[in-house]
Amino acid sequence: MSRLRRDLLSRLSDEVFDLLVIGGGITGTGIARDAALRGLKVLLVEKSDLAIGTSSKSSKLIHGGLRYLQQAELGLVFESVSERTRLLRLAPHLVRPLEFLVPAYRGQFPSRTMLHGGLLLYDALAKFRVPGRHRMFRRDAILEQEPLLRRARLTGGVTYFDATTTDARLTVENALDAQRSGATILTYAKVVGFLTQSDAGQDRIYGVELVDELEPGAPIAARAKVTINATGPWSDLVFRLLSRNQPAPLLRPTKGSHIVLDWEKLPIRRTVVMTAPQDHRVLFAIPWIDPECSAASRTVIGTTDTDYHGSPDRVACDADDATYLLTCVQHAFPETSVTKEDILSTWSGLRPLVMPDAKGLSESQISREHRLIHRPGLLAIVGGKLTTYRKMAAEVVEAAYEQLGHGAPPCPTEDRPLPGAQGLPPREQPLDPIDPIRLGLLAMNHPQLDAQVCRHLAQEYGTRALPLVENALRTQPALLRRIETELPFVYAEIDLAVEEEFALRLDDVLSRRLPLLLLSRDQGLAVAEAVAAHMAPLLGWSTQTQAAEVARYQDTVALSRAFRSSRG
Ligand code: FAD
Repeated sequence: MSRLRRDLLSRLSDEVFDLLVIGGGITGTGIARDAALRGLKVLLVEKSDLAIGTSSKSSKLIHGGLRYLQQAELGLVFESVSERTRLLRLAPHLVRPLEFLVPAYRGQFPSRTMLHGGLLLYDALAKFRVPGRHRMFRRDAILEQEPLLRRARLTGGVTYFDATTTDARLTVENALDAQRSGATILTYAKVVGFLTQSDAGQDRIYGVELVDELEPGAPIAARAKVTINATGPWSDLVFRLLSRNQPAPLLRPTKGSHIVLDWEKLPIRRTVVMTAPQDHRVLFAIPWIDPECSAASRTVIGTTDTDYHGSPDRVACDADDATYLLTCVQHAFPETSVTKEDILSTWSGLRPLVMPDAKGLSESQISREHRLIHRPGLLAIVGGKLTTYRKMAAEVVEAAYEQLGHGAPPCPTEDRPLPGAQGLPPREQPLDPIDPIRLGLLAMNHPQLDAQVCRHLAQEYGTRALPLVENALRTQPALLRRIETELPFVYAEIDLAVEEEFALRLDDVLSRRLPLLLLSRDQGLAVAEAVAAHMAPLLGWSTQTQAAEVARYQDTVALSRAFRSSRG
């Protein structure tokens, strides 16, 4: 364990924080950032790695959600498209426009005309500040764009823009900005109980008890004036630490799975909106195109939506999920042949949906709105979307100020760029906002800095890519060599992940900071030992620890392959 972490843990009990946030997903890190920027003394505790929960398992869309229009959730759509516009501006390296294509079929809802009407409303709710206007196409033009689409009864289609992101990295950048603004971020610290005292006949929470998940010992008390439960799918479990009586559940969690294919297997250019033949749900085929290397490109299919009753700690794409998704692919693209053997990787997460009052709703009918729960000294935020995290965080911090008994300063996150966008020149159309960084890296003229690596670094780190590379060139240029030949990840990123981005375990690096787990053909198994050996001196690991870390990562990979062994 680093000295810094040991010092942090040992002085924790002597401090009193204004705000203690439980949960290092997008919701928790967003709250920590907002609160620290407003000047509060903040501690964020996460039982594992940042974004290990739903915040690395989403469909990675920053979107209004066209289907929520259909469900007449206009407020949610308005809030989401407004946040999309804001995030495209505040984090243009991480939040990028994404073009969607919705094919229209005779006799199938919605028709081309209805789609046009819906998209007019969608664009109007965004006050027409959209990455690109929607366009209608006739049958031939649609087939020219996506020749693999099902042709029978196809009448045409519509294209429109939303946005995509790297969800885990968005979470890390929020944590980084929170830390730079004075927050303490403590990962691998699990909340196992609450500190309560009686205040005017009512129990008041004044902090939590933690255990160090890396070197378990006696619980440590961490005191705070306000504690926030931002644990997404774990919210009910954390609430249960407060009371022996089983409180009524706040959540109805549903599982969503995705599968990843080699792009060559399903070479689409736009995100295709598909309708599941089994239950008429909407789902997506999303191309993750590496413009510099088609062999490194992938197509992602997702997602499912099914009620979930198991542990939030081991959620996996099972055989039923994989079959459902492959059936949808076969229906939308009948000329392709994709089988379970073609699945390179999967991921699966839980939507922390608010338990609806109404009975009998299907999983997809449950609202994605959030809810804030108030108790003396405690707030809990449940539900919501990745897209609206910033707005939710502001709402929580303002409620915390009420509990603290003083007025909240103005929201600091409305115009503040995320770390990788700090120092970016103002957007100049038609130049891609990351182009100056990409070109700056290429101009360094180093043999390892090829077009694919430069694009990747500029896109994932924004302005942080320049010092990352300059530092490597100054100290150890060998750090710019690739970890795997096909993918553009380089060793210098591992150092950055450990030194700046809170990575403490091999899984943190291979699953979330440089997600070989999702992108690599063997999910990073062949390089796991080399990556562990590279991390060892940075984290003071023994040979035994390295081997344990590799075994732990192999278990993560095995879980992502559960669909191969489960029945379905
Ligand atoms: P989480 O990310 O799950 O974070 C909770 C954290 O709490 C975890 O890291 C956990 O380890 C920690 N924790 C739990 N218990 C404890 C404890 N005792 N002590 C300390 N820490 C603890 N939204 C969109 O906007 N766009 C999308 O495309 C999209 N797609 C989705 C697809 C799927 C399949 C799913 C499941 C969700 C999707 N969402 C999407 C929703 C979005 O991903 C979630 O709303 C969001 O990530 C929830 O973040 P969170 O921080 O609340 O929860």
